[in-house]
Amino acid sequence: MAVSLDLTNKEIRKSLDILKPASAQKPSLVGMSRKEMGEALHVAGIADKQIKMRVSQIWHWLYVRGISDFANMKNLSKDFRALLEDKFDIARPKIVEEQISNDGTRKWLMQFPSGGAGKPVEVETVYIPEEGRGTLCISSQVGCTLTCTFCHTGTQKLVRNLTAGEILAQLLVARDRLGDFPHSDTPQGAIVPNEGRKVSNIVMMGMGEPLYNFDHVKQALLIAIDGDGLSLSRRRVTLSTSGVVPNITRTGEEIGVMLAISLHAVRDELRDVLVPINKKYPLKELLDSCRNYPGVNNARRITFEYVMLKGINDSLEDAKELVRLLKGIPAKINLIPFNPWEGSDYECSDWDTIEKFADFINANGYASPIRTPRGRDIMAACGQLKSESERMKKTERLALEAIMIAGHGE
Ligand code: SAH
Ligand code: SF4
Repeated sequence: MAVSLDLTNKEIRKSLDILKPASAQKPSLVGMSRKEMGEALHVAGIADKQIKMRVSQIWHWLYVRGISDFANMKNLSKDFRALLEDKFDIARPKIVEEQISNDGTRKWLMQFPSGGAGKPVEVETVYIPEEGRGTLCISSQVGCTLTCTFCHTGTQKLVRNLTAGEILAQLLVARDRLGDFPHSDTPQGAIVPNEGRKVSNIVMMGMGEPLYNFDHVKQALLIAIDGDGLSLSRRRVTLSTSGVVPNITRTGEEIGVMLAISLHAVRDELRDVLVPINKKYPLKELLDSCRNYPGVNNARRITFEYVMLKGINDSLEDAKELVRLLKGIPAKINLIPFNPWEGSDYECSDWDTIEKFADFINANGYASPIRTPRGRDIMAACGQLKSESERMKKTERLALEAIMIAGHGE
């Protein structure tokens, strides 16, 4: 696609810098693909014939054992550990704050380097324990370029994309804190089996639009589902998008995880207001891309998220239109009671209205669970996440948006 914004190369280059984290003194091995790790080891002077074995040893320590200190990589020689220590980093990010809700939901505020000059950036990650499973809600960006009118994160401008390592670090920190890794002091200790793990599911539903940070999100998720490492089931990983149509098919083809769509309205006029990316990718295009989502079938349905806003999108007429629109798409509908935040203009629909809406959809053959709000007391519920970070200048933001759109295969 031709970039229509009138930007100088200098502005674009400057904005590209914002996409990267600060060139930390030592590169992190966390978040590198096997190939990248092999290349990094080669540059560090490791003999080519050793590289494959070294990569699999490090991979095991990082992702099966959850080690965050080279000294604990016990089966590696002292010299090799010293070399790794000298050249690379595997430390966890700083946890600025950990809050536990009275319903057991946990929220962490994590800090990463600024990505340029300025203060470090902060993102929120939320853990939601439920009967029989535990879901980690991961952020993909600091802030968001999009401005959905009911979303708190949307009031925070995009500061920068998270790297694959930073996206993955959120999962590693959660597993540390929840005891999902063997204790680092006893690296020979038993590995917590998959069924016993606290984090069984992940959802890319934290801060940011994951499909505007496609490459990093893809790399992080491929590592999270890698069978020789963190080993999450592909079917227990869900990516939620507001509707970046060109990257929806790529998500199915290249990552193969479950898809959730933030629908929220059934007519373009209203969706243009609630989810402004609809002006670029209207309902018809969005739903066509869902109909053709690779791997979609009745056992692997697409989730449509629908926030219940009083007097805005919650009538029975809306429910009818929803059923009509989704015809032919293997779908389930997740009704989300609106979570209020200070300064928001909306109210949550009455419980009675939500139930009637759900019953209608249900009677027409769609599962329509109402999402129980979790962690509202610590502002951890859907759409409440936000971090105090520096805002980008307008020119930088426009350049960045142009790059993200141009770079994604339109
Ligand atoms: N940016 C992505 C993923 C993050 S948002 C997306 O928009 O899909 C996760 C879900 O919470 C989305 O469906 C979003 O629309 C919804 N949401 C945002 N603000 C909300 C609020 N205040 N109350 C309830 N749900 C909200
Ligand atoms: Fe961004 Fe999603 Fe919030 Fe919209 S709902 S502003 S896309 S985080």
